[in-house]
Amino acid sequence: MRLSKFGTKFTSKSGILELMDDLGKALASPVKKYPLGGGNPGHIPEMENIYRKRMEDILKDGDRFEKMVGNYTAPQGDLEFISSFATLLKNKYGWDISEKNVCVLGGSQTTFFFLFNLLAGQYPDGSFKKILLPIVPEYIGYEDQGIEKDFFTSVKPKFNFIDEHTFKYQIDFDNLKVTPDISAICVSRPTNPTGNVITNEEVEKLIKLSEENDIPLIMDSAYGQPFPNAIFTDAKPYFGKNIINVYSFSKIGLPSSRTSVIVGPEELIEALAAVNAIVSLAPGTIGQYLVLDLIKTGEIFNVSDNVIKPFYEKRSVEAVEFFHSKMDPKLPYYIHKSEGAFFLWFYFKDLPITTYELYQKLKKKNVIVVPGKYFFAGVNENWKHKDECIRVTYSQGWEDVKKGLEIIAKVVTESYKK
Ligand code: PLP
Repeated sequence: MRLSKFGTKFTSKSGILELMDDLGKALASPVKKYPLGGGNPGHIPEMENIYRKRMEDILKDGDRFEKMVGNYTAPQGDLEFISSFATLLKNKYGWDISEKNVCVLGGSQTTFFFLFNLLAGQYPDGSFKKILLPIVPEYIGYEDQGIEKDFFTSVKPKFNFIDEHTFKYQIDFDNLKVTPDISAICVSRPTNPTGNVITNEEVEKLIKLSEENDIPLIMDSAYGQPFPNAIFTDAKPYFGKNIINVYSFSKIGLPSSRTSVIVGPEELIEALAAVNAIVSLAPGTIGQYLVLDLIKTGEIFNVSDNVIKPFYEKRSVEAVEFFHSKMDPKLPYYIHKSEGAFFLWFYFKDLPITTYELYQKLKKKNVIVVPGKYFFAGVNENWKHKDECIRVTYSQGWEDVKKGLEIIAKVVTESYKK
C-alpha cells in the first residue's frame, strides 16, 4: 500500500505505539504480567460507584439516556455541560470566563493533536514554527503528533538533588529562550513521566514569557486541578489571556469516555471547535452526561481532594518506600520527588546498560516499564541521561506494583554489579 506523507509519518514506529502495543499485549496475555508501563488510572471503587449510580439515574430519568446516545452535540460540546463548567471555575477560582472560553473534545490526546497542528508547522508566510517544551522529560504522547517533522524544541532541566536517592528537575530559565520560530509553550503539570509539579513561581515565569512574546502557554492538567487534583504539593491553577488549560476525564476514572475539556481564549476555543467539526463533527456525550452532576454541584472538587488524590498520594509514598527497601543504598540510583500524577521516575546514574536494554530484560521477566529515551522530545543531542531513566506507574493493583518493583530492583542491582 502506498501512503501519503501524512500516512508514512503516522504509521512509522513511534514511542507511543510501542507502549500501547506492549500494554495491550500484557493485558491480553495468559502469562502473568506486571504492566507498570501505561497510563491507565487506578480502579478506585468509590469513583466507580459514583459513575455506576449516575448511569443508573440516567437510565431511570425519562428520555435522558436516549438524548445522551441519540444526539450529536454542537462541535464545541453539550451546551449545558459547557456553561456548568464555566460557572464551576468562575465560582471556585474567580476566573473571568464564560461558555465562550470552554469546549469539549474527544480526549486530551486528540486535543493536543489539534492544538499543536493549529499552532506549529508551516505558516502561510513560509516560516516554520515550533512548540517549546520548557522542561523535559515530558509526556511521551506529544512527540509524534506533528503532521510535519521537528515540531518540538525543548530545554534540558536543572537537577536539584534533595537527598541521597531523591532529586527534582527544575526549569532552566537561563537557557530558556523564546526565539521567533516558537509559536507556543507547552508543559504538563503534574508532569508525566516524572511526577514533577512545576512550582507556582516557575508557572508565573512561563506566563510572563508567553505574554512578552504573545504566544499561548498550554497547560496540560491531565493529572492536575481542578480534577483529579493528583497533586501533593502546594500548586495554584492559572487562567489568563494567553493560557490554554487542557483537562481530561481520563484520570478521574473515565479514560474510555474519551473526554477532554479545554479552557482558553475565545479565539482558540472557536478554532478548536472548527477543527473538531471537520474531523469529528462533535465530541461524545457519555462522559459529559456522567460527570455533569459532579460539575453542577461542585462535588467534583470533593471527590478529587478526598478520594482520588489520597489514593494516589498514599500509593506514591508506599511505592517509594518499598523500592528503597529492596535496593542497596550504596548504589547511585535516584527517584524523582513524587509530587503528583501516578508515576515514579527512576534515574539509574551510570547504569552499565541503557534503560532500553533494561526495559527488554524486564520484559523477559514479565514486567513492563517505559524506557526513558522516549520522553525527551526536542533533545536531539546524544545525552547520556536519556538512557538512564525509566517510568513506572503505581496506579495498578498494589500486589502487582510491589512485585514489579521488586523485580526491577533485582534486575537493576544485577546490571550495576556486572
Ligand atoms: N497528557 C498527559 C500528560 C497524559 O499523561 C495523557 C495520558 O496519559 C494525556 C495527556 C492524554 O490523555 P487523554 O487523551 O486520555 O485525555
